[in-house]
Amino acid sequence: MPFAKLGLSSPLVQAITELGYKTPTPIQEQAIPVILSGNDLIATAQTGTGKTAAFVLPLLEQFSNAETLRGKRIRALILVPTRELAVQVEASVAQYAKHTTLTSMAAYGGVDTAPQKERLIEGVDILVATPGRLLDLAHQRALHFDELQVMVLDEADRMVDMGFVDDIHKIIVRLPENRQNLLFTATMTNDVRAIAHAFSDSKMTNLA
Ligand code: AMP
Repeated sequence: MPFAKLGLSSPLVQAITELGYKTPTPIQEQAIPVILSGNDLIATAQTGTGKTAAFVLPLLEQFSNAETLRGKRIRALILVPTRELAVQVEASVAQYAKHTTLTSMAAYGGVDTAPQKERLIEGVDILVATPGRLLDLAHQRALHFDELQVMVLDEADRMVDMGFVDDIHKIIVRLPENRQNLLFTATMTNDVRAIAHAFSDSKMTNLA
């Protein structure tokens, strides 16, 4: 099945064609239509299955006609467990968004907050962040969540293993209640189910 059949428009299809992707992977085929329909989703997917594109492409599609953001606002938050993953996922977002006007940024700890805060002032469509730094930026009022439409939890099982459950709960309560929730995990455990439950009250499509 070609990517366009999944509901992705030409700026995105062009970017992925340039990257050499010919057909969607199984997780992309299953997840992209669900996400485009606005439903919440929980999915098990290992690294290497194409899971990043499975959630990033429909996010970009949903935002493709959006108006310019005003200061410190974001449309989507992708929470990841490590700095390395933040850098890697943001690089993918930038590649897929290359023929759109949408912007992205990675925010992680261990570096000065000042450049991240400066960049956020302009507004960032898709923010990829580690939980600790996200909370820091929120406490410093460097971020406003009132335009946030989608929250993604990537590698949720690793987040649990790394002790981020409390931080995740602290983040969730700051977000608008009316939002789309997407959760990806390599393994489905009771802890991950508990987060998904806290995360989403609405009807959730289960690809786990
Ligand atoms: P991920 O599972 O998100 O870590 O992606 C694994 C790798 O697969 C990345 O290097 C992607 O660039 C690549 N990839 C993702 N989707 C496709 C696709 N449909 N066709 C070919 N390669 C892909």
